[in-house]
This record gives sequence, C-alpha cells and structure tokens, in this order.
Amino acid sequence: MVSGYANRLLYVDLTKGKIKKLRLAKSLIKQYIGGKGFGARLLYDLLPPHIDPLGPTNLLMFFTGPLTATGAPATARSIVITKSPKTGTFLDSNSGGFWGCWMKMAGYDGIIITGRAPKLSYIYINDGSVEIRDAEHLKGFGVYATIDSLVKDVGDKDAKVAAIGPAGENLVKLAAVMNDYHHAHARGGPGAVMGSKRLKAIVVSADTSNPKFEIADPDGFKEFNRDFIKEVVMGPSQEWARTDGTPIIVRASNNVGVLPTRNFQQGVFEDVDKIDAETLRKYRTSKGACYRCTIACRNITKIKDEKWGEITLDGPEYETIGLGGSNTGLGDFKAIIAWNSLVDDLGMDTISLGNVIGYAMEAYERGLLTKEDTGGLELKFGNADAQMELSKMIAKREGIGDVLAEGVREFALWLGGDAYKFAIETKGLEYPAYDPRGSIGMALAYATSDRGACHMRAWPIAEEAFGDMDPFTPEGKAELVIRMQNFNAVKWSMVFCDFLDINYEKMAEYLKLVTGMEYTPKDLETVGERIYNLTRLFNVREGFSRKDDYIPYRIAHEPIPTGPNKGFAVSPEKFQKMLDEYYKLRGWNKDGVPRKKKLRELRLGRDIKKVSIPGASY
Ligand code: SF4
Repeated sequence: MVSGYANRLLYVDLTKGKIKKLRLAKSLIKQYIGGKGFGARLLYDLLPPHIDPLGPTNLLMFFTGPLTATGAPATARSIVITKSPKTGTFLDSNSGGFWGCWMKMAGYDGIIITGRAPKLSYIYINDGSVEIRDAEHLKGFGVYATIDSLVKDVGDKDAKVAAIGPAGENLVKLAAVMNDYHHAHARGGPGAVMGSKRLKAIVVSADTSNPKFEIADPDGFKEFNRDFIKEVVMGPSQEWARTDGTPIIVRASNNVGVLPTRNFQQGVFEDVDKIDAETLRKYRTSKGACYRCTIACRNITKIKDEKWGEITLDGPEYETIGLGGSNTGLGDFKAIIAWNSLVDDLGMDTISLGNVIGYAMEAYERGLLTKEDTGGLELKFGNADAQMELSKMIAKREGIGDVLAEGVREFALWLGGDAYKFAIETKGLEYPAYDPRGSIGMALAYATSDRGACHMRAWPIAEEAFGDMDPFTPEGKAELVIRMQNFNAVKWSMVFCDFLDINYEKMAEYLKLVTGMEYTPKDLETVGERIYNLTRLFNVREGFSRKDDYIPYRIAHEPIPTGPNKGFAVSPEKFQKMLDEYYKLRGWNKDGVPRKKKLRELRLGRDIKKVSIPGASY
C-alpha cells in the first residue's frame, strides 16, 4: 500500500455489466505518479491501435492524483483519459470541482470504463458498493436536471455527479463530461465517448469524514502545506487568481493583440471594455472555490434579465469569454453569461463551440452559407440570438448543426473550395484564445500538443507577449515549449490545477510528505518527459507524424490586419525552423517519431516494438 493513494482502481465493463476492483501497481505509481501519467501508460497498453473512438472498445478512464482531496491547494482535480473522437489522438482533459475528490475519498484512484451498456445507464459508487443503474428516464435531460435528479435518486444530498448532456448523448464531437454543474472535462469530445457507451452519469457518495487513503507524514504535510499556502497561494504571484481569476486575461490579451476576434480575423476587439474583468465585477455576487482550494479563483455571477431570465453561473472563464465573446463578435457580458450557462447545460466545450460558431459566422458573412442552410438564422457576428440557437442545433444535431457538431475542420471540408483557409485548428482541435501571430511560440505549442491545439501543454505566451522574450522570433521557443510540456505533464499527473504557481522542488516536497516516495526535481522532469514521449508514441502508432503538426492557413499566410502585431503572420519558414529544432531537442526524427535511444533513456524501450508506421526509423 502506498500512502497518498486509495490503491484501488475500479473497472467497469458496461457490455457485460461486470464490475471489478483492481489493485494499483506500485511500478505504475513510481514511474507515472497519477492522473495523466496513469492514463498515458494504461491507454497505450490496453487499447488496440486504430479502434473507433466511439466504438465499445474505446476506454473512458477517470483518474485522480496523490494530492487529490488532501487539502493541498488547487488539487481538487480529476482527469479524463480516452482516445479522442475529435482528433483520433490520445486525450487527457482535466477538471476542477468536487466530483474527483469524492471518487478518491470513496476509495478509488481511478475508474476504467469499457464496452457499451444495452440502454442508457449510470454508475453509482457508494463507498465500497458499486452498481450500474438504469438512466433511461434521463434521456435528453440537460446536465443540471440530470445532476438534480440523480442526487435525489440516490438519496444523498451530498453526492457528486459527473454527467453528459444532450450533446454527449448525440455523439457531438464537442461534447464535454460535466461535473458539479459548471466544471468541464471539455476538450476533445470525452462527452461523446461517454455517450457512445450509453453512460449518462457517474454518481459518487463518499464518507468524507473517513477518506480511504492515508498521508505518509500528516504532521509534516500540515506544516509544509500551511507555509506553502501562506507564502505562495497568498503571495503576489497568485493575486490575479484570488481577485478576478482568468477574466483578467481578456484585457491583457487585447493589449498585446492576441484576443481572437471574429474567427481570428483580428487580435483586438473594439468592445473589449464590455467583456473584461471590470465588467465581470458588476455581475459577480461572490467568489467560489473547488473542494478545499484556498486560491478560490472562481467567479460566481448572476444576471436577471428580461431576455435571458435569471441565471446564476460559476464563470465565465477567459477562454469562454474569448471564444464565445470576441471571437463571435459578441460584446455583451449578459449574453456571454447566458450562453455559458446554456452550453454547460447542453454539455459542450465552450472553446471548440466558440470557434465553430465564429467560423460559421464568417462563412455566412462571406456568402458560403445562406439562410436556407442555417434554417433561417442570420448568422452574423455579434448576433447573440443566433449564437444561442446554433448552439442548441449543434447539441441536438439539427439541420446544419449536424455537420457543425463534427467541428471546424470537418465543416470546412463539407463547404469545400477555399473554406479550409479560415479554419483555425490543429489535428482537428480548435484553437484556444491566444493568436500565435502575437506570440510565435504558441504556434509551436499548438502544433506539438498531444491532443491537438491546446494551451495547457505549453503556454509560451507567458514569457513572450506577457513576458520579456521577443514574441516574433523562433529563437529559443522550441526549448521553452518542451520545458513547459514536460512540466505540465507532471502537473496533470499530480493532479494540480493549471492556476497554481508551483515548481518541481515544491512538488517533490509534497510527494514525499504525502506518499513517502522520494523524487528529485530532475526525477520529476524525467517523469514529465517520459509521459510526453509516451503520448507521442500513442499518436505515432495511430499514424500521426510531422504532417499533422501544422498551423492553420490563416495563421501562416494572413498577416494580422490591426493592433500591435499588425502585418505579422507566422511564416511557414519560421514555423518549420522551430519544428526542426523541437524534434531535434526532443530526440525525435525528422518525421516527429521518438528515436530508440530517447525511448530507452526514458525506460520506454519495450514500447518500441508496438509501433509500426511508415517513416518510423526502427
Ligand atoms: S485555482 Fe480555481 S479552478 Fe483551480 S482548483 Fe482552485 S478554485 Fe478550482
């Protein structure tokens, strides 16, 4: 038994209706820590190559980490792992809230789900007992009603629920797994995988006064945690999170010209003062927090409006404002709150959906879509009603919503011709809210992210446009992106929240006190590198290579027309230079395939024989 872990995984085969409890292997813990690391190892080992992500063979796994539910700050996280139906790549997607903590306190470090239930079902975990129950009565229910109904059904008002909405049931590729109403495992379509398994929800009841794990050195942990909270969490580097949270980035991004505006046509939004943190404060009723998180970055907002009604929301975050606000030309904070609330209830990823709507609006304004195509919707930038209606159509796969439910890349293919030139995605995943034409390292970060365009593997803009590095030069960006990717692979394995200011040294201290295991900062860096190479290997096995590490046409060929980065695009030459350097520093060949030497160095040598792709140099 290893302290810090429940030392058990739950295995549920929905086809056979079988439930098993598995012991967590110590070797897995030592080499992969938890969360993303566990998922990377198990997905690679358990999933045959080239399976249909929406077929019954795909695995849907949820993991926590050694610090989950311990009271360490920003650790109220869980992570979902699967093969993405959106990209066909490895997918990890993490979320805050309470649900993950309940899973661990009930006695499970993770849940591995396979198969497909004969009818809509939910899993009920009640500490030691686990059942698969009928959920047919919840068909078509939104996330909020599903959670309310299940909490009543199980007779535990403190039960926590992870659920899908109509989008997940309809296999929409933008579908999220939601928990505690407004927390989302959003990116890459994990909700569609859950829907394909006919699994509506996972409900957990836990005796929180008796969590099923131990802390190796409780007194030492208490003391270290208290000092860390005092020095770091309450310190100046976390002030932004404690006060306004991520919405503070809206104004900062606009100032440096990277705020996506009207489907990334501009990087500056003329109505920024209507969607920034100052505006948010007018609607904020209180601050909120995930389970025992002392940062408490959440903004609880409320509107009472003739048009949108009375809405209370935990949000919106920067990404939602950037993609569902400026990117759709919507300078109306009440409408953004209403849209965020609607999308959470439908169970979708606000980043991808904001991109899809922005893209459809540009297509409409260019005359590539007509009112006939849209079912009468006037899809113009800034039309809040159209944004709402289109979101519902996508979740229900109604009319044009059926093709848009596949995402920007597929919709561009459906439109044909030059429509791909304004599709903003990599590997089929739509861009987050930072335009690389104002921070060139972001182009490399998006292109080499293991789950498609993502800002949570590496966020070089912190040191470029928001820091001291030149944002337009490729020099030094490969090393920076690699360093951040490896670090974040460890962060998502612990599983920490993105917003915590922590380093390898402090992580190693926490690990020692909670688990009793000793890691040096260098050991942790190696764990991160191992995980990132393993997820790359997963993608290589699926057929991904250099050809898939691309940047969108607009980012490469359309200089940004306004703002501080006016005239700048990420030229293909500069981008390829960064990519070459990145592969070289990574120890990968020119196709982006990890070399044997690197894999052996990372103790992944045995995985080489499982890779068979054209161009792999073995
Ligand atoms: S920092 Fe914010 S999002 Fe992260 S765990 Fe804490 S409250 Fe949740």
